[in-house]
Amino acid sequence: MSEKTVFKRIIDGEIPADLVHEDEYCLAFHDISPKAPTHILVIPKKEIPSVAEIEDQDADLLGHLWCVIRKVAEQAGLAGGYRVVVNCGDDGGQEVPHLHFHILGGRAMTWPPG
Ligand code: AMP
Repeated sequence: MSEKTVFKRIIDGEIPADLVHEDEYCLAFHDISPKAPTHILVIPKKEIPSVAEIEDQDADLLGHLWCVIRKVAEQAGLAGGYRVVVNCGDDGGQEVPHLHFHILGGRAMTWPPG
């Protein structure tokens, strides 16, 4: 069996996280190395390695995650806008192989991303 990811260890309560939301299906917590004044990660409790492994049966879960993203961003006071980033695979710059959404806000973002 492969080693647990850092996010699975957070889900299992083995390492702490600065939680801002938890429900039956997901967690949201502050990124340990923030890239913006507000940098929150939203992760499903289900172990989905990346966008590339999402299955049709995950559609309801993904819809729920987007609703949580909206609520977490509202709670964080990001009324001026924010960016949601999902890195996928090596070329996408993904480091943790557990699906996660970055909510970045509190400053103006630039485009295109690097
Ligand atoms: P990615 O490069 O898209 O896989 O993003 C992984 C993110 O997880 C990075 O922004 C890291 O700073 C963040 N991260 C890694 N370990 C932790 C942790 N223990 N608690 C919170 N965020 C973490």
